[in-house]
Amino acid sequence: MLRPVADGVLVHESEFCQSNAVVVQGGGGVLLIDAGVLGDELACLANDLSDSGQTVAVGFSTHPHWDHLLWHPALGRAPRYGTARCADTVRDRLSNGIDARRFGIPDEVPLDLLGLITDLPADAARIPWDGPEVRIIEHQAHAPGHAALLVAERGVLVAGDLLSDVLIPMLDLNGTVDPIQDYLAVLRLLDGVAGDVDVVVPGHGSVGGADQVRARIEQDRAYLHALRDAHDPSDPRIGPSAKDGWDWVAGVHERQLQHLAQRSERAATPR
Ligand SMILES: [Zn+2]
Repeated sequence: MLRPVADGVLVHESEFCQSNAVVVQGGGGVLLIDAGVLGDELACLANDLSDSGQTVAVGFSTHPHWDHLLWHPALGRAPRYGTARCADTVRDRLSNGIDARRFGIPDEVPLDLLGLITDLPADAARIPWDGPEVRIIEHQAHAPGHAALLVAERGVLVAGDLLSDVLIPMLDLNGTVDPIQDYLAVLRLLDGVAGDVDVVVPGHGSVGGADQVRARIEQDRAYLHALRDAHDPSDPRIGPSAKDGWDWVAGVHERQLQHLAQRSERAATPR
C-alpha cells in the first residue's frame, strides 16, 4: 500500500527488512526509487500506480546492493538510473549472476530484472526527469556510488541505507581506506541540508519527521565515534532495545568491531 509522506511523495513499505520504496510524482509519470523487494509487493505497487492512473517515468537505485536493484515487468520499461559508480559496481558484481543463497535472498524475490541500471554522467547533480528537482548527494559510505536524494521542494530526504532507526551504520569495510571517516563525512553533508528536510525516508526502517533528521544524524555519528574508539556504543538499535526482528544487528556490530580491530592490528605490525 502506498502511503503519502509529503506533498506528491509516497512510500511503499516491504515486509522484507522494512524496506522503503519511494514514489515521487512528476509531470509525465512518477520517479520510483528502490522499487521494492518481494515479487507480490512489487506487483502490488505497480497495481496501486496504474489504479491511480500513474506510470513510472524513471527508476533510481540508491546503491549497488541487491535489495535496492530489483524491478518487476508490471512497472514498465522506464530507464532505471544509478550513479555512474553504482552502475559500474553492479555490472562488475553481477557479471556472473548472483548466488541467491549466499546473499540470503528469499525465494519470493524476482531476480530476472535485477541490476539493469543505466549510468548517469559521473558528475550528475540531479536526476534527469520531468518533476520536482531531485538532488543527488553521492558518497562512498555503506556502498560504492551510494546516493542520498534530496527533494527540497517537497522537504524530503531519501537517505538510502543511512539514517535508519533500526539499522546501525553498516560500513563498506573493503571498499575504502577509511570507512569510518568516509561515513562521518557524509553525515556532515547531510547535516548541511537537514534544514531543508521535513521527512527522512531510510532504505530500511521508519519514516522520520523533521525532528528525526538531526537526531538520526547524531545517533549514527555517536555510533561511528564509539566504533572508532572501540567503546560500547550503547545504541538502542543494538541489544535488547532493538526492535522486534532486528536482533541480528548486534551481530553486524560485532563483525564491524572485529574487522576494524584486525585492521589496526595489521597496520601496527612492522613488516
Ligand atoms: Zn545496502
